[in-house]
Amino acid sequence: MIVRTIVAFIFGSCVGSFLNVCIWRLPRNKSIVIPRSFCPHCQAPIRGYDNIPLTSYLLLKGRCRDCGKRISPRYFIVELLTGAIFALFYFNYYSHPGNLFIYLLLASALVAITFIDFEHKLIPDRITYPGIVVGLLASLIVQHQAPLLFSHIPKLNSLIDALLGILAGGGILWAIAILSKGGMGGGDIKLGAMIGAFLGWQPTLLTLLLAFFVGAVVGIILMLLKLFTTKSFKAAWKKRKEFIPFGPYLALATLVTILKGRIILDWYLKVF
Ligand SMILES: [Zn+2]
Repeated sequence: MIVRTIVAFIFGSCVGSFLNVCIWRLPRNKSIVIPRSFCPHCQAPIRGYDNIPLTSYLLLKGRCRDCGKRISPRYFIVELLTGAIFALFYFNYYSHPGNLFIYLLLASALVAITFIDFEHKLIPDRITYPGIVVGLLASLIVQHQAPLLFSHIPKLNSLIDALLGILAGGGILWAIAILSKGGMGGGDIKLGAMIGAFLGWQPTLLTLLLAFFVGAVVGIILMLLKLFTTKSFKAAWKKRKEFIPFGPYLALATLVTILKGRIILDWYLKVF
């Protein structure tokens, strides 16, 4: 079991290595297949033996072998994070291989989206549109995820559940975008729809709630930090609408829902 979890981690870090390519190329509208990986500074192609996840970055001390310039620590972080997610998901869902595979697909897309959103403040359609389709197709092949995530809810036809998930995830964020007049981007709406397609409607609602909760907490902390740095409440209050990307919160909330949604819902039903 431990060995297989470690294998899942190593496999995840390899996927993370590919995600790094996507994170750099997708927002620049470049192909993710060709050419092979190159140094962003000197364009020298990365040698096969320098392309080993995690270890190569450490051995080269985060520098390009050719030009010696710094390679962003993001490469290392994404490989480590993806490896950790794969190991955690494997540990939790190895008895449901079909669902595990689909969750890993979703989590990989979310890792790429998170880092692209951080850096570029956009969520590429090239991930969300295919993601919605894959989520729908997955509901045809694998018995739907919701009963696995939430023990209390009645089983629903997988495809209908996925369609309701798209409506819930996309619809609610769309309504917020209309009401808040631009506080929510179009990319967030499509991301909500994609998560809905993968999770079904009830886990999607929990995901949205968690994302808003974490977003609000982080938003308040950031505002307080600004308050202390600008020493003027008025200035900080004016800046509160400064666009904070919502994609990373949605991504984090989705992972929490997949891993701990059942426990959170059980706790909620017990308390209320
Ligand atoms: Zn270089």
